[in-house]
Amino acid sequence: MFAIQFWGVRGSIACASPRHIKYGGNTSCVEVVAGDNRFILDAGTGIRPLGKEFLQEGVRTITLLLTHTHWDHINGLPFFRPAYDPTRRMHIFAGHLKNQGGIEKVLSQQMHEPVFPVPLEAMRAIVEFEDFTAGESFTLNGGVRIRTAPLNHPNCATGYRIEYEGHAACYVTDTEHTPGQLDENILGLIEGADLVIYDSTYTDAEFPARIGWGHSTWQEGIRLCRAAGAKRLAIFHHEPDHEDDFMDAIAAEAEATWGASFVAREGMVVNLKSS
Ligand SMILES: [Zn+2]
Ligand SMILES: [Zn+2]
Repeated sequence: MFAIQFWGVRGSIACASPRHIKYGGNTSCVEVVAGDNRFILDAGTGIRPLGKEFLQEGVRTITLLLTHTHWDHINGLPFFRPAYDPTRRMHIFAGHLKNQGGIEKVLSQQMHEPVFPVPLEAMRAIVEFEDFTAGESFTLNGGVRIRTAPLNHPNCATGYRIEYEGHAACYVTDTEHTPGQLDENILGLIEGADLVIYDSTYTDAEFPARIGWGHSTWQEGIRLCRAAGAKRLAIFHHEPDHEDDFMDAIAAEAEATWGASFVAREGMVVNLKSS
């Protein structure tokens, strides 16, 4: 089995409101099930309910791949309950901090008084931290190939490609494009992938007023997927001000532009290989 489930699809900040019901208000968190392996992409607020499911299902070994450490991608981690259970094992990877003190230090700064009362050391699971350099590839848990690429984002970010039994899912957020110039690092990462989850914070119409903010558009996601021969695009990292009716309009326009694109919703499952 190779499947993806969206637990948080927003960028910037969680936005619970009656106008964010259909697509969801939690920030970035995506679960990847590859055979017996459980991966988590980012630890935004969506990781809290995922942690409850892991406790219920008895998942004991968890690999967390972080794109970067802006709030919307790590703020849920202190509320990920399996991390406090000494019978569980967590492996946390990041590709943007090798020369800046490493991921353990940055996560401990988030869990430090006076901004948070519980220190990182209270996480009693067996937690291993691993810093790599975006662009490196590695193999995990006997057979899952992870490829990475540097993204164009303030303070840097890492894009991931997870390959399992001949299929590939890519997670490319947060990143800013240059209009008229497809990002070669991303094209290489997503080539021929079954699914590309892409930073679609803005529309092309909004983008000119947001240059330098580190994000991209769903239209650029389609251009990249088409150029790289990727099969499907998940529009992701929604701007909190894009309420349900606005997202419905994006979904319709995106589908009309490229039928293989769809808007990611909290709770949505995408199966890449069912058996
Ligand atoms: Zn973000
Ligand atoms: Zn960011």
